[in-house]
Amino acid sequence: MMQNNNITPEMEDQMINQAYQNLLNIYLSSNHRKKVEIIDKAFKFARDAHKGIRRRSGEPYIMHPIAVATIVIQEIGLGSTSISAALLHDVVEDTDYTVEDIEAQFGHKIARIVDGLTKISGGIFGDQASLQAENFRKLLLTMGEDVRVVLIKMADRLHNMRTLQSMPANKRYKIAGETLYVYAPLAHRLGLYAIKTELEDLSFKYNHPAEYQRIKEQIIASEESRNELFARFSAPIRERLDNMGLVYEFNVRVKSCYSIWNKMQTKHIPFEEVYDLYAARIIFECDDESAEKRICWNIYNEVTEVYTKHPDRVRDWLTTPKVNKYRALHVTVMGPDGNWVEVQIRSRKMDDTAERGFAAHWKYKIGEGEEEEELSRWLSTITDILKDPEPNAIDFLDTVKLNLFASEIVVFTPRGETITLPKGATILDLAFTLHTDLGTHCIAGKVNHKLKPLSYKLASGDQVEIISSNSQKPKQEWDKFIVTAKGKSRLRSALRHERRLTIEKGEKEFMDFLAEHNITLNNEVLSLAISRQNASNKEELFRMIGNNEVILNEDMFTHKEHGGRFNWLRRNPFKGKAEPKSTTHDSATAIDTKSIYRLTTRDGKSNYEIASCCHPIPGDDTVGFLTNSNKVIVHKMDCPTLARLKASHGSRLLQTQWEDHSDTFQATIHIEGIDQKGILQSIVNIISTNMSINMKQMNVTSDQGVFNCDLQVLVSDAKVVTNLCREIKKVKGVNDATRMN
Ligand code: MN
Repeated sequence: MMQNNNITPEMEDQMINQAYQNLLNIYLSSNHRKKVEIIDKAFKFARDAHKGIRRRSGEPYIMHPIAVATIVIQEIGLGSTSISAALLHDVVEDTDYTVEDIEAQFGHKIARIVDGLTKISGGIFGDQASLQAENFRKLLLTMGEDVRVVLIKMADRLHNMRTLQSMPANKRYKIAGETLYVYAPLAHRLGLYAIKTELEDLSFKYNHPAEYQRIKEQIIASEESRNELFARFSAPIRERLDNMGLVYEFNVRVKSCYSIWNKMQTKHIPFEEVYDLYAARIIFECDDESAEKRICWNIYNEVTEVYTKHPDRVRDWLTTPKVNKYRALHVTVMGPDGNWVEVQIRSRKMDDTAERGFAAHWKYKIGEGEEEEELSRWLSTITDILKDPEPNAIDFLDTVKLNLFASEIVVFTPRGETITLPKGATILDLAFTLHTDLGTHCIAGKVNHKLKPLSYKLASGDQVEIISSNSQKPKQEWDKFIVTAKGKSRLRSALRHERRLTIEKGEKEFMDFLAEHNITLNNEVLSLAISRQNASNKEELFRMIGNNEVILNEDMFTHKEHGGRFNWLRRNPFKGKAEPKSTTHDSATAIDTKSIYRLTTRDGKSNYEIASCCHPIPGDDTVGFLTNSNKVIVHKMDCPTLARLKASHGSRLLQTQWEDHSDTFQATIHIEGIDQKGILQSIVNIISTNMSINMKQMNVTSDQGVFNCDLQVLVSDAKVVTNLCREIKKVKGVNDATRMN
């Protein structure tokens, strides 16, 4: 540890007191209620706790918490709770005091924040990527609990970056890298623009010291000519703004070293060719919030009357603020020297919001509730993702990062409303963003009036109409087409809801079956049914029943342990179908399971039954299942129920073959498309005129321009259905025609 012998303990105490007094002065001149007492208590507690400890730079440790607390009030604008928590933020981590001690002294709120800060005190980067993700997850989780944790963490990180010089080189790289990877984008998302810029610049400085120095020098060297140019550029505009009677600031802002370097790297150009090295900024005073927008456009008119505007470079963040609340009007015009100059037009309040983001609302109490609601909505989305245990931490990290940091696109609804989405968002994302119901029923979208699938990736400026259908249900595989965190969590909860409905349906079917067969529900019945179906519990069993994966039959409730002789059903009085079946097993052997079973229909009587789960028809590849009651149930080869039966009752399966038959079978075809004139007539023509097929029933709905039709036809075999579907798909407007089970 370094210690300068010229500094006496008295001088150090004076330095500490001065820094603390400075903090208090800033607090007292802010708009916050003056709660000096708690801050004072926190300061003294932290000072004593860290007593005798020094930072690597040699200064007393308490200088760090004071500096962090100063950033918290001065640059983020938080109040006494946060200032106190900032002063105490390293106490639990670095001294013998516990969170309980903090709670006893400072109450629950401050203790929770300190606890959150202690939990995320390690770096974001561990040695492994998954550890990285886990820490990041922790960080965001704490943020969900109280956003102040992350805001204070941001201040902590900023001060550490400002004093990074005293760290050994290898740690410098690691911390600088982490700052650029996580903290700067997070600051951006929280709207802390000034902090984001400083974090980026500091990271750049430590990662590429030489380049940083060179750019810095070039900025200084070009200052004089830039100022000269700006004076010429601004003069005619100033004249007009003065005539408007505005009180304003008009200055020139040079890009940060980091963003200049970034541009040089990505465009492969030297410093001199970075044309948007600086931007001109007009900030006007305005107390009337309702006039802000109009004044912006008035200024825009004046600017573009003096200079020619770039046709593609008007950015209207007034009508559609960025997600991080940024509002301003940007226009790029041709300056007097023939170079493009960006002019940013904002009110004082917009400027404050832009520089200090979230913190600005403590200054402007108006609209506070609204802003907090927006932020907490966003945070609760993040919390939702976090609470859903993900098997793969890296996937999770990608999802969250995508939402936090991805660049945005803006799309339009048919009514002209604008919706901001992350880049890569699909039609399905938009549907879920608008409303959960719209998402779960989404079947497609019309993008710029053209029909596109729900997985279609949207681009900025697209006009999108969501097409939904009441018959649509949310699907697991949609997860692949959703990039927004909100969409993903809404899909997940919709799937859970859907699952609940299936379970309820299955439970009802189960109960109805028991009632119908006069079986009393007891634990034995239930556990027998569960184990027969290899279900893990009763929910799983009901879900399988509700999903038609299990067909209820009396076998399910028959004991086999006693050589099939003991049937618990006998305990009940028999009624209706629940006849004792003492002979069924014997006669079942009459069917030869080794040879092919021929499915025949003679005199209107069949030697088989059609499985209600998959509805096979002649021509389909089928397998027979021999029940206890000696019936053959025919399933389609690819039926999921059959797959289950194969696993549990393999010996009861029969190879089947359809005999020639004269019967007709019922098949259901689902047709989906965009409704247009004559679509129904064309379909009917194909069925009855062209193919002479008997139509049994037709159920047509048209919803928001989407055409849905369930068609029941009587056919002789599967081939006819395939042909019919193919012909129907040729009808204009029809998207799909498929046979339903
Ligand atoms: Mn710290």
